[in-house]
Amino acid sequence: MSMPSLINILPAVARKAPETPEEVAAVLAEARRLDRRVVVFSTGHGIPPIGDTSDRILMDISAFDQVEIDPAARIARIGGAVQWRELIEAAGEHGLTAPFGSAASVGVTGYMMGGGIGFMSRHLGLGCSSIRAAQLVTPDGQYRRIDSGSDPDLFWALRGGGGGFGVITSLEVNLTPVPQMAGGVLAWGIEDAERVLTVWSEWSRQAPEDVTTAVRLVQPPEGPALAVVVATAPRPAGQLSADLGPLISLNPMLNTISNTDPAAFLNEYTDPEIDTTEPPHAFEHVLLDTVTPQAAQLAAEFGQPATGCGAIMVEIRHLGGALARPAPGGGAMDRIEGEYSLFLMGPPEAAEKMAHAADVLSDFGRGRTYLNFMQRRTGRQTAYPEETIGRLADLYEAVDPEGLLDHPHPIVRRSRLAV
Ligand SMILES: Cc1cc2nc3c(=O)[nH]c(=O)nc-3n(C[C@H](O)[C@H](O)[C@H](O)COP(=O)(O)OP(=O)(O)OC[C@H]3O[C@@H](n4cnc5c(N)ncnc54)[C@H](O)[C@@H]3O)c2cc1C
Repeated sequence: MSMPSLINILPAVARKAPETPEEVAAVLAEARRLDRRVVVFSTGHGIPPIGDTSDRILMDISAFDQVEIDPAARIARIGGAVQWRELIEAAGEHGLTAPFGSAASVGVTGYMMGGGIGFMSRHLGLGCSSIRAAQLVTPDGQYRRIDSGSDPDLFWALRGGGGGFGVITSLEVNLTPVPQMAGGVLAWGIEDAERVLTVWSEWSRQAPEDVTTAVRLVQPPEGPALAVVVATAPRPAGQLSADLGPLISLNPMLNTISNTDPAAFLNEYTDPEIDTTEPPHAFEHVLLDTVTPQAAQLAAEFGQPATGCGAIMVEIRHLGGALARPAPGGGAMDRIEGEYSLFLMGPPEAAEKMAHAADVLSDFGRGRTYLNFMQRRTGRQTAYPEETIGRLADLYEAVDPEGLLDHPHPIVRRSRLAV
């Protein structure tokens, strides 16, 4: 589905498609005159938590789509609407990459505003930690370049603080060489889900620091339900296969672990497009500290087609590794506290059962969440430490005192924090 059709489906007072920073500033000024809030729209993937947009001005930033790679400096300069596929393919031509997510069509900027957990995260860390500078138009209409020297506070907030500090027209992103990469999937019939989850969770406790894996119990629209392990590592396939030994010895019916590169891997294993014009899906997410044999058994039961919770995907991602270490000089989100991420997706009619499943499994964590996987507005108290919330709230008061920019996960302002 092309983006213009999606943005045209969302109700709005007005749609604007600025092509220059000056035009962005003009849209913001017009919104203020009309007393309307503005929603920045790049791909629309992150819009669902905003809900009703009918009294908002939708700002389509798709004109900001340039990708420029400086291989010598290992930097990418990208427009605010660039998607992961475009950046990873361009960087890949120079043997470089950035901490990409699991969907090729997600916007790099929107992803990084919420942190960014992806297919190589235990090796590459959070997406937002790779931001080195941003050019943005702040709600007062000023066009500014922000880096660690020019405005340390705003620079801190832009790295994982949840967005809403301005309209980002371009980002400068640090790139990392990946001379070698292996990846692929192992798949079993869904009846093996408990065995796979139990062995995987035990294995994951000792897994090498830079091997990133996730288990997905999936029920595709056609074909059999499967238990799938997705795996990547920055080394040859033979070595990754050896790392995955305990899982491979469970005799998967499919084993595609092979030498690859980030662009090829992302194109092959990207998440399916979610058609946001369809009735809304149901989503649940919570971070977990552990996946015990009991948790594995419960998750496997919830993922069964006939008797489970109705989700079409029950996913547990292994976090830790570089995600757990504070990024040097990191921003508002500089690590993830939680060893695993649970994510469920299903049809609206499964919402109640899925909420129950997530609630049961949340006993294996501390109720923490990760912003990008929260598909409804739930506040940020579970996603950030209190001190970070306070600092972000102060910055919102300073940068956008009227709340001109609406965004998926607004923060409770400091004046209302105690309420
Ligand atoms: C299929 C799918 C897979 C996903 N996989 C992952 C994953 O692996 N890891 C992960 O961490 N997240 C993942 N996400 C979540 C995703 O990162 C967030 O939904 C993110 O907000 C999407 O950004 P977007 O620009 O694509 O979406 P949009 O809906 O266009 O933008 C969402 C919001 O981000 C902000 N924003 C975006 N661009 C700009 C800009 N240039 N300037 C200012 N604000 C901006 C705005 O507040 C905007 O309203 C996934 C989402 C989907 C739908």
